[in-house]
Amino acid sequence: MNLVTRAEWNAKKPSSPYTRLRSTKGVKIHYTGGKVPADLADAGNHDRCADLVRDIQRMHMAGGRGERYIDLGYNMVCCPHRQVFVGRGPHHLPAANGAGLNSGHYAVLALLGSSGLTEPNDDLLHALVDAIEYLREHGDAGREVKGHRDGYDTSCPGDPLYRWVEAGAERP
Ligand SMILES: [Zn+2]
Ligand SMILES: [Zn+2]
Repeated sequence: MNLVTRAEWNAKKPSSPYTRLRSTKGVKIHYTGGKVPADLADAGNHDRCADLVRDIQRMHMAGGRGERYIDLGYNMVCCPHRQVFVGRGPHHLPAANGAGLNSGHYAVLALLGSSGLTEPNDDLLHALVDAIEYLREHGDAGREVKGHRDGYDTSCPGDPLYRWVEAGAERP
């Protein structure tokens, strides 16, 4: 897999220590929603994926989701160039699934919007499976793969990605 370390994407350090998670039932899949540039998946545009990940971290740590998060809310972030960015990483409690739902599943974000880039390409789906396998191997994630909308009132991860989740979240 193509792992982008926190040093490589220039992550800010978390503002306080993570809460440790021994294991989870599995993984929940998210999308960014909103507008993601339609040409983000073009071969030359991967630099913009890293910009997006830094933007999300900045927004989450500045309180954009109602409270100041200690780090971006996701454990891993996947882009349409089959790269997997390390977010909070394995064995750390995420802050993306909704209150009371974070210890049950790791949170994996796909760089995919509700306008612009809305359909996952094959490289994004491979990256998601790479991230799921990584969290199973390094974070004791269980077999479940669900969407953010499972158990929480949200459109996330969008219909195209949710259909993929429901079909078994398999490699294309
Ligand atoms: Zn979500
Ligand atoms: Zn990319």
